[in-house]
Parts: sequence; C-alpha cells; structure tokens
Amino acid sequence: MVAAAIADSNKKLVWLRGSGCGGCTASLLNGGNPDVLSALEKIRLEPAYHDELMLQQGMFVDGSPAGDSTHNSNVLLQDLIDAEGYVLVVEGAIPDGPEGSGRYCMSGAMSFKELFIEAAPGASCIVAAGTCAAYGGVSRLFSTAEAAGVSFAGTSKGQGAMARYGLENTVINVPGCPTHPEWLLLVLADVLAGRDVDLDVYGRPKAFFSAAVHDSCPRRGAYDRAGRDGRFSDGGCLYALGCKGPVAYADCPTRRWNGAASMCTQAGGPCIACVEPSFPGAFMPFFSTGESRDVFSDLNVDDVAKVIVGAAVVGAGIHAVKRLAIGESGREEKGGRK
Ligand code: SF4
Ligand code: SF4
Repeated sequence: MVAAAIADSNKKLVWLRGSGCGGCTASLLNGGNPDVLSALEKIRLEPAYHDELMLQQGMFVDGSPAGDSTHNSNVLLQDLIDAEGYVLVVEGAIPDGPEGSGRYCMSGAMSFKELFIEAAPGASCIVAAGTCAAYGGVSRLFSTAEAAGVSFAGTSKGQGAMARYGLENTVINVPGCPTHPEWLLLVLADVLAGRDVDLDVYGRPKAFFSAAVHDSCPRRGAYDRAGRDGRFSDGGCLYALGCKGPVAYADCPTRRWNGAASMCTQAGGPCIACVEPSFPGAFMPFFSTGESRDVFSDLNVDDVAKVIVGAAVVGAGIHAVKRLAIGESGREEKGGRK
C-alpha cells in the first residue's frame, strides 16, 4: 500500500534556504546508499526547485523577473508557488530583523521571510530540515536577527514563524546539525505515502528521536563501569568531556552516519545534542566538564540516565524527563552571550 501510494504521488519538491550554513543540503548529498537522486526518483519526488543546487538565473526588468520559467528561476519558483500542492523543505532559520523587515536574510530581491510567507500556504506539507529550520538553531543565538524556526523558536511552539506570521500548515521537524539524510528521505517517503508521521512534543518523528544517544552509545559500557573520564583519544566514556548524550534524543548510535560508518561518540567526539530545540545555547560550551553540567539541572546524571532508561522501557514520560533535565529558562540566553 505504501509503495502504491508513493507511486501515485509524483509530487514536486521545493527546497528553500533561509539563514543557515547549507550543511543540511551537503548532508543530503552525502546520503550514500541510495544516493539522493535515486532516492528522490524512487519516492517519485521531483526536485523542482532548490535554492542552492540549481543555477540561479534570469533577468529583472524594473525590479520584476522577466522571461519564462526555463530561463528565469524566479519565474519558475513563482509558477510552482502558484500551482500549489508541493512538498516544501525549509533549510535554515527565518530571521525577522531588522525591525520586522526580515532583510538580514535575502533570497534574490525578497527577504527570506517574505518568500516563506508566500510559499508556505501552498505547500501540502512543510518539512523543516535541520535544527535551524526546526527551532532557530545557531541563527537564533544572535538576538538581533530575531530568527525563528518554522514552527518553533527553541522549545516554544508559539514563537515559530508559522504563528508569528499567522500561517497554518502541517510541519514536520527533522532536526540535526546537520540533519541525517535518512531521517529526511524517510520522512519525505512517509509524507508522499500519505502516512501520518507520529511526532513528539517538539514536532520530531518519534521513530528517530525517542531514545537518548546515551541509551545505546558504543561507550556506554565504560559509563556503566564508572569509566567516565575518557579522553578524545581513548575508548572511555566522554561524559567528563561534556558529552550531552544522556539528554540528546536521536538514533545516531544505531543508524550511524556517513554510510553507517560511525557517529559522534564512536568517533571520539562528545555528543553536543545537535537535535535538541535548545541547541546550541543550552549546551555551550560544548566540551566543558563544568558549566555544561548545567544542562542536567543539578540532577545526578546517573539518576537522569536511570529515569530516562526507565521511561523508555515503559514507553512514556520521556519528554517530561527531558524537560526536567534540560529546561530552557535562562540557559539559552547564557549560552548565546558566549
Ligand atoms: Fe556515550 Fe556520552 Fe553516554 Fe558516555 S555520556 S556513554 S560517551 S553518550
Ligand atoms: Fe547530534 Fe549527538 Fe547525534 Fe552527534 S550524536 S549527530 S551531536 S545528536
């Protein structure tokens, strides 16, 4: 049934890039097996417009795009927006500043904010790719930009761009800095198949973002044996180096990255919780043994880990634990000033 639904879909993909580094596009292109073009072809999603990958071209006459959609990418984008029904992938945050103009991030002649307001209503579904698009991410650290994610600003749903500009649409957050190509492609496949994607309180698919990295980290054995003072170069647990694996919810240890070659803690880097709504502010400085312990809200990490594992076992309450463990009050601002 899923295959048949996908075969019938033939949707167009419109990919817009706001305030971000482009890493999520790079991650998607590194997708491996299947490569991104075969995968999109398989799920019958036509990449009709991509801000970064396609050749931006076309003349403007008196400030308006001239020519037809073959020769002017602005005309092509406008035609797609007018036709509606596309799947809209947003990469990067949506700045509102300065003074509500959105002009800290321009896309051609328009601010990205204006483009988003124009493109969002016609989308059959919006996928926020990466933590900047989902929650504001790195772009939100600098308050002058007044950047937000599509439907969230940090952990707050009411302050995302959708609510800010009075828009309503289905939004699925696929965070990560960058996002994992498989998370994105599997979500797109589900959307095209018309399946309801089961989301957590932060709008992320539960299928990928329910278990803590710590639960199945390859260094978990060392953690359980109280070997928590590992160094970057040895096989010990990286907790003392600031690892946020106990409060980061993603299937990185089982899915792994770069063609399933490795993942952060396996490669010797502490998890920096890049999939969390409060990233990066609440988790900075990343490699600190002192201040970073703030994220555990004065709880003993052993207790947090036990409760998290317990919650996962009973299949409930995990986000309550996470909110308790992370909290956003003040810490994000604190991180932002560093
Ligand atoms: Fe792995 Fe970090 Fe947990 Fe240690 S604290 S077991 S390195 S996730
Ligand atoms: Fe992000 Fe942590 Fe997963 Fe690395 S292990 S990709 S920092 S959530």
